[in-house]
Amino acid sequence: MGKPLIAGNWKMHGTAESARKLATEVSHHNAQETAAEIIIFPPLVHISAVSDALSDSSISVGAQNVSQYSNGAYTGEVSAEMLLDQGCKYVLVGHSERRAILGESDQTVAEKFRAAQNAGLIPILCVGESLQQRQQDATLEVVAKQISAVIDLVGLDRVCQSVIAYEPVWAIGTGETASPEQAQDVHAVIRTQLGEAGRSTTLLYGGSVNKSNAAELFKQPDIDGGLVGGASLEADEFLNIAQLVEA
Ligand code: PEP
Repeated sequence: MGKPLIAGNWKMHGTAESARKLATEVSHHNAQETAAEIIIFPPLVHISAVSDALSDSSISVGAQNVSQYSNGAYTGEVSAEMLLDQGCKYVLVGHSERRAILGESDQTVAEKFRAAQNAGLIPILCVGESLQQRQQDATLEVVAKQISAVIDLVGLDRVCQSVIAYEPVWAIGTGETASPEQAQDVHAVIRTQLGEAGRSTTLLYGGSVNKSNAAELFKQPDIDGGLVGGASLEADEFLNIAQLVEA
């Protein structure tokens, strides 16, 4: 069992004003009503507005991406130190949209993970198989390989100190969710891959989580919380999901 977390990935949505408004609405939650730490991942340019809006709350802020490089001549990139400076505690690495659309390889994802951790951010490593890979029975192999690439670069202990989000690609933004059993099966195998040190690593499920399907998913023994995309853009829905995370 890892520490319970609920993360809202806002992807590339909103203006500074709408981001501030949504963050403020989320911040009005009653912290007693969820066992989970709540984390919001706004678009990069809205991080500082969201950090300000959340400054009196217990909600954490994260970034959706980070450069694998340290500060320097990398035009357009944003380093882990800069994210820390903006108030970020977490960062997503290896989200399937970045792997599939922006061409991030397992190696690049591993380097981003290392850069984030070296700077003191907590990486949330996203892994998951495509529909075709699931149909070919390759799910466990794909997920193990994505995690191994990071273990090979930084070592098992450092991976165990991060958060891992299992997000089947076919379930992201599609309205289709892995069944609680399908998700638990993969989470259990990830937990086994991490060994003894991974017993307290937080493992999240992501892929069309909403307030109707979250309870059954979060009841599974190796699911410690959720990474929520679309449903995190509406404060009440997101907070209802947060309340379903088990202690
Ligand atoms: C995500 O963006 O990580 C995600 C899981 O999105 P959605 O909840 O919309 O499927």
